[in-house]
Amino acid sequence: MKKTIEKIKEVTQMNIFETVKAAVTLRQAADYYGLKINRSGMVCCPFHDDRHPSLKLNEDYFYCFGCGATGDVVDFTARLLGLSAYEAAQRLAADFGLDTSRPSVVTQVRKPRPRVNQLKQDELLCMNVLSGYLHLLEDWKERYAPEAPEGELDERFVEACHKLEYVEYLNDLLLTSDQEERADTVKKLLTGGTIAKMQARLDEQKKEVRCHVREQEIA
Ligand SMILES: [Zn+2]
Repeated sequence: MKKTIEKIKEVTQMNIFETVKAAVTLRQAADYYGLKINRSGMVCCPFHDDRHPSLKLNEDYFYCFGCGATGDVVDFTARLLGLSAYEAAQRLAADFGLDTSRPSVVTQVRKPRPRVNQLKQDELLCMNVLSGYLHLLEDWKERYAPEAPEGELDERFVEACHKLEYVEYLNDLLLTSDQEERADTVKKLLTGGTIAKMQARLDEQKKEVRCHVREQEIA
């Protein structure tokens, strides 16, 4: 008997998660709980001290370029309101007037699409690397700018001048285009080796910083 009750409880919990996730988008939840969403679907991240919107609300997951916070609409609500996942699902169901006693029609129609998950992972990787490289270039452009007009140019400054606009363009493309276009861009970036090159540049930079810190420690 106890087992049966546990089982029913389990099934009910699963239903509520699925119903909520199928019915409420991240934008709807973020909007409902008072976050200001800009035109590209970005908000100031409520999970770190964020002055410019760096958290992207996608169709069914969010991702913060500042602190790396990610998850679905239930995770988002749970973290935002300080609730457990189950409490957050209940709260969403209540706030959006959902009937959670049975799986919604949407849930029944929706079949798992594993290919989409792979796409999503690739997309996250690209976004991560692009935004990392973009920040690095922005930093270089300021830090290594020539002090006098006729001064010698630092190669990092040159790299920043050459690439900044293009990387910005790619970054915007991934943030603002529709799913099909994004998938296309991601594929090109990965197969063309663009992301791998940027990743290598970021790794190099990390190593340089580490060496520098060590040198300072020794001195
Ligand atoms: Zn954040």
